[in-house]
Parts: sequence; C-alpha cells; structure tokens
Amino acid sequence: MTPHRRTARACILGAGLAATTTVYAASAGHPWLALTATYPVLLLTWCARQYHAAHHRILAEHEWARRRVVDPTIRPLSPCCLLATHSGGAAHDDRCTDTFWRIVAHTWKDRQ
Ligand SMILES: [Zn+2]
Repeated sequence: MTPHRRTARACILGAGLAATTTVYAASAGHPWLALTATYPVLLLTWCARQYHAAHHRILAEHEWARRRVVDPTIRPLSPCCLLATHSGGAAHDDRCTDTFWRIVAHTWKDRQ
C-alpha cells in the first residue's frame, strides 16, 4: 500500500462523514447547512480521486520497472512521467519511464 492510497482512503472517510452531515442537515430542515456541508464532500471526493490516481501511477511505474528488468526494450508508459504531463513535455523527472529523459533529468539535476 502506498501512502497515496492511505490518504485516498482517509479522504473517502472524511467525505462519507461530511455526506452524512449533509443528509442529516437536509432532513432536519437546515438547507443552508446542508449546502455548506456539500463543499467538503465534493472537495474530499476530488482529493481522494487524485490520490487514487497517484497510487495507480506508482503501481504502474513499479510494474514497468519490473518488466524492464526482463525486457530492456519495453516501451515507456504514456505519459512517461507526471512532470512531463504538467510541463507539456518540456521537463521530465528522475522517475521518468523514458530512459533517455531519465538520463537527461539526472544530468540536469546534478548541475544544480
Ligand atoms: Zn518523462
């Protein structure tokens, strides 16, 4: 279990508690309280989804590294790394699954 999965589960638990509060407030005749409690439900659900995606990305990277030991010609994951996703392909991190960019990222990191 990665730390991301643990955090995702905590967010789901918090979203469930907030959803319970929302339902209780709505049934007790407090619509504004119910509406206010909806925000943490949506926020925590979104956070849980992001952490869950990060967990699956780490599992995919580990599986890719495991397969790469057997077959060094294995294709990189798509996207190759999360930094490339957020930078539009301009930057790559040291966990990049494209071996060329991994070497370049290490070289660039050592210069700083
Ligand atoms: Zn990359």
